[in-house]
Amino acid sequence: MIKVNGLEKSYHQSNVLQGIHFSVGKGEFFGIIGPNGSGKSTLLKMISGVISYDAGEILINKKEIRKYSRKELAQILAVLEQEGLPPVGFRVREVMEMGRFPFQNWLGEEAEDASTLIDEIMGMLGLNHLENRTLDELSGGEKQRVALGKALVQKPKLLLLDEPTTYLDIGYQIQLMDIVRTWQKTTQVTVVAVLHDLNLASLYCDRILMLHKGKQVNVGSPREILQSGLIEDVYGTRPIVMEHPIHHLPQIILKSGSSG
Ligand code: ADP
Ligand code: MG
Repeated sequence: MIKVNGLEKSYHQSNVLQGIHFSVGKGEFFGIIGPNGSGKSTLLKMISGVISYDAGEILINKKEIRKYSRKELAQILAVLEQEGLPPVGFRVREVMEMGRFPFQNWLGEEAEDASTLIDEIMGMLGLNHLENRTLDELSGGEKQRVALGKALVQKPKLLLLDEPTTYLDIGYQIQLMDIVRTWQKTTQVTVVAVLHDLNLASLYCDRILMLHKGKQVNVGSPREILQSGLIEDVYGTRPIVMEHPIHHLPQIILKSGSSG
């Protein structure tokens, strides 16, 4: 679904990304991790076609991303970003309807009626009772579910998430990740998610790309990437890595006094 080759990007002569190369298969849940400022959001924005790159290429379904029109891209991919919601005056239902813009003609008409789809997604996200609320009347967790809903009503082939669980408490973190995974199983959508939390990345990702200072450290399964030595090299703190007793995936435990 995605192929990235020799990708490079600089701002003001300083390299933000360099030598990035990986592929993501159809239906895969692919994670991107790395410390603050390592280039995760920049990479995601390049995959969504929002910013350009200086060298290398990104192919989506074998076609270079620069060759897609804005509308074509919007029909393939949806993005959930931290600042992705419209101004606060909009109502929840209106925001969901905005997700259908790429499929409408200039009269705002669509070939198929999307209201059933919107109902279904709002139900899945527990948003039905909030449909007439404006965005400023929602909690952080509710807003994040609305942002996810707006992305899902696009029925994307490729769903891009930039730190979708930031500011959510643990209950909502798991709920949001479970919803994405369930949706993925039913629609075969490909997911690329920048994740801050290494333990969530381990539980949900098929494979993980680790970035450090704009360079690709490694790509592999959670077991290959979440190793204490590698994490220490990249994050400057050495955690304890243990196997999850139920999921049998690596989980990290932080140690105090071990930074630097
Ligand atoms: P991450 O998402 O991993 O925290 P980013 O991709 O946001 O990192 O940023 C990577 C680096 O690129 C940072 O050093 C950041 O300051 C720099 N950067 C990002 N966007 C711009 C920009 N528009 N102009 C200049 N520098 C930028
Ligand atoms: Mg970021």
